[in-house]
Amino acid sequence: MDNFFLKSNLIWHPLAQKNDIPITICKGQGAYVYDENDKAYLDLISSWWVNLHGHCNPEIAIKIYEQALKLEHVIFSGFSHGPAIELCERLRDFLPTNLNKFFFSDNGSTAVEIAMKMAYQYWYLQKKDKPLFLSFDGGYHGDTFGAMSVGANSGFHSIFEKFFFKVLSIPFPDTWDDDESVNEKEQKSLELLELYINQYSDKISSIILEPLVQGASGMRMCRPSFIYRLVERVREKNILVIFDEVMTGCGRTGSFFALDQIGCEPDFLCIAKGITGGFLPLALTITRQDIYNEFLNQDQKFIFTHSHSYTANPLACAAALCSLSILERQETQHAIVAINDAHIRGIEYLKLHCKHISFFRICGTISAFSIKGIIPENLKAELLNGGLLLRPIGNNIYILPPYVITSKEIDFTYKKISSIVNKFFYA
Ligand SMILES: *Cc1c(COP(=O)(O)O)cnc(C)c1O
Repeated sequence: MDNFFLKSNLIWHPLAQKNDIPITICKGQGAYVYDENDKAYLDLISSWWVNLHGHCNPEIAIKIYEQALKLEHVIFSGFSHGPAIELCERLRDFLPTNLNKFFFSDNGSTAVEIAMKMAYQYWYLQKKDKPLFLSFDGGYHGDTFGAMSVGANSGFHSIFEKFFFKVLSIPFPDTWDDDESVNEKEQKSLELLELYINQYSDKISSIILEPLVQGASGMRMCRPSFIYRLVERVREKNILVIFDEVMTGCGRTGSFFALDQIGCEPDFLCIAKGITGGFLPLALTITRQDIYNEFLNQDQKFIFTHSHSYTANPLACAAALCSLSILERQETQHAIVAINDAHIRGIEYLKLHCKHISFFRICGTISAFSIKGIIPENLKAELLNGGLLLRPIGNNIYILPPYVITSKEIDFTYKKISSIVNKFFYA
């Protein structure tokens, strides 16, 4: 115990504050992780949205081991390897046919940086200077400077504001069960879009958005038809479209990608988080052949200058290939539907039993709801004590579980949340 404590004093944990003491986790299995006293926590947020098929999934673990004995890594500039090639081939089955050029990196933020750099340079190579980006209020695209810039109107990174490049931001028309103002909100967003594109369209290189669900700002959900209209409109103005599906990809929203429900194709698609099933860092920025062709130039000074040491790591690719196979299976597809059904039941339960909760919303395997007022720190602690690994955002609680979770465990979760919240507000 002492030993663990000393160790944790050395580490600067993400988003840590003075009184935060991290829980040391010693093992994981299925939907659970276990601390040093063997206390189980039901991982209801898939360890920050990365885990798909459970912790320590043995099939993926074995594939990584086998790959490690063959080729652990090789420089990806001037060299290639089987797992990367096979992964792109396999991903094509899940993608619109025109998205067929794959650029590897190793996290969501860089996948976004790459898309933005490509979008800007694409126009630059055609002698068009388009330094502006469109984005959404509440959007989150990562913690690097470019990604922070397009998330500027979300308040996550305001300290660094003076370094941000210029972004035009539109309100995100988030909606929920029985929301009567959704048409009005969407109309407002589209009107502001119209204003921006009429004034600046020849200066805007691209628009970036999280399709269907804004994750980090509290699982804010919008209607697919809104995104469809938006994309149609910006296309007419030659603005490239970047879908950041870092969180929404790999079955999260019920379809393989959120774009499948929207019915339109982006020019760039960013994926990361769940792609390796939660085992290893890997990301992809996927675009079209004709965009790639613009970059093929004899002059070295126009090359796309972006690379990372661990680009297309073979172990990560092997994990991703295995994760995709599991994801494709009927039993996983059924599990995704079952999670959605359990969310519907759970929300009904909360509506009946918990007066302090409102703004109910569900998208595929994600459900979210809001507590009236900010969630007190000790309520969060109570959820953890109760064995629920949840991480509320502001006044929102959300559930985004690995696909191996059972309906019973989800039913239990809703009941437990309800009793803890009720105890808190009536005590
Ligand atoms: C998490 C996230 C990112 C950043 O990904 P990292 O791998 O944490 O850098 C970008 N976009 C979205 C939508 C995300 O949810």
